[in-house]
Formats: sequence, structure tokens, C-alpha cells
Amino acid sequence: MPTDEKTQAELLREELLRTQKHASEFLSEKEIAQADAFCEGYKTFLNACKTEREAVAFFRRQAEARGFVPFAEGKAYRPGEKIYLDNRGKALILAVIGRRGLEDGVRIAAAHVDSPRLDLKPAPLYEDKALALLKTHYYGGIKKYQWTAIPLALHGVVVKKDGTAIEVTLGEAPDEPKFCVTDLLPHLAAEQMKRDLAKGIAGEELNIIIGSRPLLLDGKPEGFKLHILKLLHDRYGIEEADLISAELEAVPAFPACDIGLDRGLIGAYGHDDRVCAYPCAQAMLDDCANPEYTALCVLADKEEIGSCGNTGLDTNFLYDFLTDLALAQNANPRKMFRQSKCLSADVNAAFDPTFPSVMDPLNAAYLNFGVVLTKYTGSRGKSGSSDASAEFVAWVRQLLDGNSVLWQAGELGKVDEGGGGTVAAYLAKLNLDVVDLGVPVLSMHAPFELASKTDIAMLHRACKAFFSPAAQLA
Ligand code: MN
Ligand code: MN
Repeated sequence: MPTDEKTQAELLREELLRTQKHASEFLSEKEIAQADAFCEGYKTFLNACKTEREAVAFFRRQAEARGFVPFAEGKAYRPGEKIYLDNRGKALILAVIGRRGLEDGVRIAAAHVDSPRLDLKPAPLYEDKALALLKTHYYGGIKKYQWTAIPLALHGVVVKKDGTAIEVTLGEAPDEPKFCVTDLLPHLAAEQMKRDLAKGIAGEELNIIIGSRPLLLDGKPEGFKLHILKLLHDRYGIEEADLISAELEAVPAFPACDIGLDRGLIGAYGHDDRVCAYPCAQAMLDDCANPEYTALCVLADKEEIGSCGNTGLDTNFLYDFLTDLALAQNANPRKMFRQSKCLSADVNAAFDPTFPSVMDPLNAAYLNFGVVLTKYTGSRGKSGSSDASAEFVAWVRQLLDGNSVLWQAGELGKVDEGGGGTVAAYLAKLNLDVVDLGVPVLSMHAPFELASKTDIAMLHRACKAFFSPAAQLA
């Protein structure tokens, strides 16, 4: 019998078994180099944009440079026109009008641009034992102990009573001072070490050191807090009361960098969810000229605290935008929503060989195995999930396989191990089809998260296919 003839078992395996390829098998060397090049742009974006406001300003500038104009209510847009809606500088909708009418539905890729961090309290500044400090209130789900003893920068905005907004970025330039939350030395931490990990550092212990020298007037020390207020006033013209009407966020001060000798991964603050926002937005900005269906890229705020607030997706800004767009075309908005398809682009946990016990290895996502399709999230019995339909998941499979996108299916950890949610559940409220598709991440929500360059490039490819006319499916 000739040795190259396949056995029946081999033939059946080929026919029936699902194969899961690593990016190094799936992509050519040239494609991997292209992925690496794309990620250089991503790292530049990460370093420039550490808050939702900075990300929205970045994408808005990029959009304007490519001919996107502010959405005008009541205007009936023509196919190919590019518009945007900036929601309070903290959330952004980019749209390219499609050749089909809106009642045929729209294509939405939605990601969020807020990340876990330490927000300053309304009255943050105080002095204690010859140090000036800032009180914080953490934003999003963090392991508090991870935020001590690392360099922090302050980003955000202070709005004075007359409405003047002052943008603040302190601690990013190499020659600028940075800030820090302290931790106890092990020598004196015997009692602290008995606390469980959740309480290792308490919320009220996340105090940031902002100064250590008093204001000197005529050679006389006049206070540490006063010194900081004087320095802030000299630089920004602000006073203590202005900190009440401010959004100042302490974020890690270090830049994104490659991880591993082979440079396959990127380590950075805020991959969740800029690692999805960037590929989605770039796919729209660079590769969505004349789509069949109207294409939207939604960059939302507040996902990390439940999509609440008027810049989160559990509010009406997306609904209002699409409804206004439909009414101006004399289209029925309800019909448009029913026919619409949405990719909720958010990260999922990657399998960590150091912590295998929290994952079901059959249903976990792995770094470098492509974008992860997450049918449902939630906790316990899928509580809080939107749980996409089999029909829509099948449609997305066809989209991905038909456009050479490496992808994997995953869920967020073992059953009853914990859980989480994304914007998918809020988008589902619009009565459209939505499923999560994103990049797997290690050390999610830590000040320094890891993601794979090839996975990021695969999300870019997936979004291009989702938007672009060549890839439109029925
Ligand atoms: Mn996220
Ligand atoms: Mn998150």
C-alpha cells in the first residue's frame, strides 16, 4: 500500500475536526512583518492617549484629516459621506454612509476608550507629616496592590467656574516629575501581609505623593499643600476649589514596549480596550471608502464602570444619532436597528499558563491564535450577558473565514469562576445583532497588560472586512 494514501481515520479527522492554527502557521512572514508595522502605530497611539478624552481627541483629529465632518441633524447624507459625532469629548461615533438605505441596517464596530485608573477625589490635596498627597478613588475593577510603587502620571481636565477648560498632562515627558502611591516595606509589613490580597492595599490607602518640599517665602517654610497649589497655579492658573470641577486621572507613567526577545507581544497600560479601539478606528479611517452598508465605529466611555453616564453606551447617544440619521432619510429607525449588525470589540482573558486553574482550556483564548469570538460573557448562569444567537455567530464565522482572519472561540474563564461584561448587552438593547470579537489579553486590568501583535492585526483585518464593500455578506 502506498504510504501517501490517507487512512480512513486521517480523512475523517481532516473532514470533521476543527483545526486551530497559531499565527506563525496561518500568516506568512510578510504578513507578520505587516502586523508588527501596524503595531508601531498602535504603540505611538497608546503613549499619546491614556484617557478617554485623549483617545477621542486623537481619533477626531485623524477623522478630520481624512475628510470626516461633524454630523448635522436633519441632513440627508449621500453614500460615501463621512461624518462624526463627538459626545462631550469623551465618546465618538465615526460613520461612513453606505450605498444601501438605512432600512437595510448598519454595521457597527464598538469599542471603549476608558481604562481602569485612579481618579482624584473632589478634594484631593492634603499635607501630612511633611508630605503633600492626593486622595484617589479608583475607577474600574483593579487589584489595588498593583497600583503602588510604580511611576504615575496625571492626565485630565480642570474646568474653572467661568467654563474655561484647562487640559492637564503631568509626568509623561522624560524630564517631567512623576507621582507615586507608596507601599509598606516588607520589614514592617507583618500585619499587612496577613490581609488577604483584596485588602492588601485598601482603597483609602491609594494616596499619591505629589510633593515633599514646603513653600518658602522670605526663607520661611509656609506649607507643603500651599506649595503644590502655588505650583499648580503658576502652571495652570487654577486654585484648590477648581479641583472640584475636574477629572484628573492617575495612570501609569511608563510607555508601551515590546515584550519577549522575539518581540511578539506589547506590554502597555490600557490595552483594555484601546487594543480594540485602535484597529476598529483605523479600519474605518483608512479602508472604508464606499461601503455597501452604512458603517459606524463607536468609541465609548464608561465601560469599565458599567457603561453608565451620558458618555457610556447604556445611554441614548448612539440610538439618537442613528435615529436622526434614519429620519433624515425618511427611513424607519426601528427597521434599521432590527437589520443592523454589531461587533462589540472588547478584550477577553488570554490563557495564562501560570494560572491555568481559572480557565477551561477547551474554551479559553490563547495569545497569537487570533481574535477571540465570545458568544456570551456575564457571570454565573450567563447573568448580564447578551448571548449572541447561533445565527449571528454563524454569520460572523463566515465573515472571518471568508476574509482570512485567524480567530478562536473563547469564554471568560471557567463556569462560576467569576465573570464580566462588555458593551454588547447595551448594544443588544437597540434590537440589533451583536457579538463580542476582540483581542486576548494577559494581566487584564493591571497597570501593565500584554497583548499579541498578530492578534491586534487580525482584529484590524476583521474590522476592514466587516466594513468594506468587498467583504460584505448577505
Ligand atoms: Mn474592556
Ligand atoms: Mn475592562
